[in-house]
Amino acid sequence: MIKEIQGLHHVTSMAGNANENNQFFTKTLGLRRVKKTVNFDAPEVYHLYYGDEVGTPGSVMTYFPFGQMPRGRRGTGEVGITEFAVPKGALGFWKDRLVAQGVTGLTEGSFLGENRLGFDGPDGDGFALVESEVRGRTPWTGTDVPEDAGVLGFHGARFSLRDAAATGELLGFMGYQKDETEGSVTRYRIEGGNAADTIDLEELPTAHTAGQGAGSVHHIAFAVEDRAAQLEVRRALMDTGYQVTPVIDRDYFWAIYFRTPGGVLFEIATNEPGFDRDEDTAHLGEALKLPSRYEPHRTQIEGLLPPLAA
Ligand code: ZN
Repeated sequence: MIKEIQGLHHVTSMAGNANENNQFFTKTLGLRRVKKTVNFDAPEVYHLYYGDEVGTPGSVMTYFPFGQMPRGRRGTGEVGITEFAVPKGALGFWKDRLVAQGVTGLTEGSFLGENRLGFDGPDGDGFALVESEVRGRTPWTGTDVPEDAGVLGFHGARFSLRDAAATGELLGFMGYQKDETEGSVTRYRIEGGNAADTIDLEELPTAHTAGQGAGSVHHIAFAVEDRAAQLEVRRALMDTGYQVTPVIDRDYFWAIYFRTPGGVLFEIATNEPGFDRDEDTAHLGEALKLPSRYEPHRTQIEGLLPPLAA
């Protein structure tokens, strides 16, 4: 069993309109944009990162806003719901705020004793705010969201799967322990993690397969401390038969990727070096940052990207 995984690192999704996406995460949800860069494989598309003050691993929601892009079709083989943690008692504030801002898909409920408020992102993305006891996290305070209600990073994620068994087995290998089941959903939890420590597997044996598009999660990334830990995880996964990519430099972390049996694309990302490696903490996410190979093309790239509100 792998012991290096610390919980979630980031979740990366696809979006349509970049400004709507930016507005939703920075204004409606009150996250901080911690990096404005480009898709390293398609530099005419932004890669936008939203999180807490410094983009702590386990708090970072990232997007590729492709502009005109059909919405994804929700179904199995994907991350169905990305869950943010909020302080206990905060859901009343959030319900009023999301209603006032015209957010759709609001559903109130509970799972394993935790109150949750489901809602749709700007492209129909599946989200929930979950009231929970969160250790060692603080919300971004540079917004109009009161500090005692602010988002405290990820709570976890819920996968939609036709058959949960193989993914559950993989999570066990990655250090997650099987927790309780309620209805068709089973919780897996990592002990001693970074607080973004649950994965819920929802089994939907008769649902159709998801089709990716705007509002779909592209991949979900799990955190490891450093490159040495990442190499340990890579070796262990390959020894178990997974096809894992070589280590890729993403400027703010190092990444490896592999496809899981349920269909969800996993990444293992390092906590190092972090989002402050190329700009001051006070100004994170303000300037367009490009990987060095695209710097010679900055003027051309800037001309292709829509200007973003602050
Ligand atoms: Zn990623």
